[in-house]
Amino acid sequence: MLLRHKAIVCALGLSLFCSGTGRAVERTGALSRVATPAESLPIATDVRVGGDDKQTRFVVDLTQKVDVAAFALGNPYRVVIDLPQVTFKLPAKTGEQGRGLVKAFRYGLIMQGGSRIVLDTKGPVRIDKSFVLEASVGQPARLVIDMSATDRDSFQRTASLETHSSRGSAVKPSEVAPKATGDQRPLVVLDPGHGGIDNGAKAASGEFEKAVVLQFALTLRSKLESSGKYRVAMTRSDDTFIPLTERVRFARSQGAALFVSIHADAIPRSEGQAEGATVYTLSENASDSEAARLAEAENRADVIAGVDLTAEPDDIANILVDLAQRETKTYSAQFARTLVGELKATARLHKNPVKAAGFKVLTAPDVPSVLVELGYMSTKNDLKLLTSTAWQAKTAAALAQAVETFFAQRLAGTSGRAN
Ligand SMILES: [Zn+2]
Repeated sequence: MLLRHKAIVCALGLSLFCSGTGRAVERTGALSRVATPAESLPIATDVRVGGDDKQTRFVVDLTQKVDVAAFALGNPYRVVIDLPQVTFKLPAKTGEQGRGLVKAFRYGLIMQGGSRIVLDTKGPVRIDKSFVLEASVGQPARLVIDMSATDRDSFQRTASLETHSSRGSAVKPSEVAPKATGDQRPLVVLDPGHGGIDNGAKAASGEFEKAVVLQFALTLRSKLESSGKYRVAMTRSDDTFIPLTERVRFARSQGAALFVSIHADAIPRSEGQAEGATVYTLSENASDSEAARLAEAENRADVIAGVDLTAEPDDIANILVDLAQRETKTYSAQFARTLVGELKATARLHKNPVKAAGFKVLTAPDVPSVLVELGYMSTKNDLKLLTSTAWQAKTAAALAQAVETFFAQRLAGTSGRAN
């Protein structure tokens, strides 16, 4: 599964994910990232979409010329535009509505050193031209993508040809090689959901899940580290997109003893109100329809970011067979229960606080893994808590206590094996 996924990501030119150890950051290791100073980055200042349902032109104004690579993906139909890291200074609602063949679009960091724009298209499109014009008198540099409507068969022919071309070659991120040294303390991997181009759930007042969960994970990291008992690594510690499989791969390659994915949910207003925290473990059969909906939404992160998953593998059932032969499942369930016990005292809990569903990010067969939905971005009271420093500190302390209990039980050999 990992190899196949790796091949897909490599085909996309995301060569950072093709290296041995990945990009994620371990505090105890040195991160040798070559960051570009923000002030020297090109800035995207405006976007225009013109045309109709047959031919559409997408234009981005830039403060300097950059290299660009564009390709189309199906299922759902999208156009992905990769560029070197760009600062987007665009009006708040940019991308919510498109025109012509473009339904909507989003943009953001896809990795350190690389930005991406993803256009959702009304159907299969062909990219006729993609180029960047130099600035000229009275005109900024402009990125231009011309596309036209095509049919499904021609789309598929072009897509398979493109797989063999040098897709995404504009993105050349720096290599990172963190590695722990001889430290025997258990490694806890914290996984703030979403990031970069993928905002996650959005509150009516504009807050993004990706920012809320990152803030929380950073607070939790300090709490765990201050105990001195654990090493802590994060799949992301800034606003960067990380594919789901890469998060799993990172936890495994680092030898994590526990993986905690952190999210905040949202439900449409039509489905009423929901509140409180929920802890999820992996299961082929979702414990209820809400859990199934949530797993489906969270599993869409890679689609949102324009990662090609057409060859994405291994259904959850196969992974579970593997899991059944290990203690991972037992430990995951044990940690989930411990965590709910701790959260009870400090955080509001959902009415059914322990659930299970097919979350891709929980599929490491050898790392006990849970996904915590801290609360609902769509519920006013929850959002107030989620964005409060005091609540975050209190809840992070409860989580840290659950980690403590979990490892104490494991050391004492009293795992929840009876379950
Ligand atoms: Zn999420």
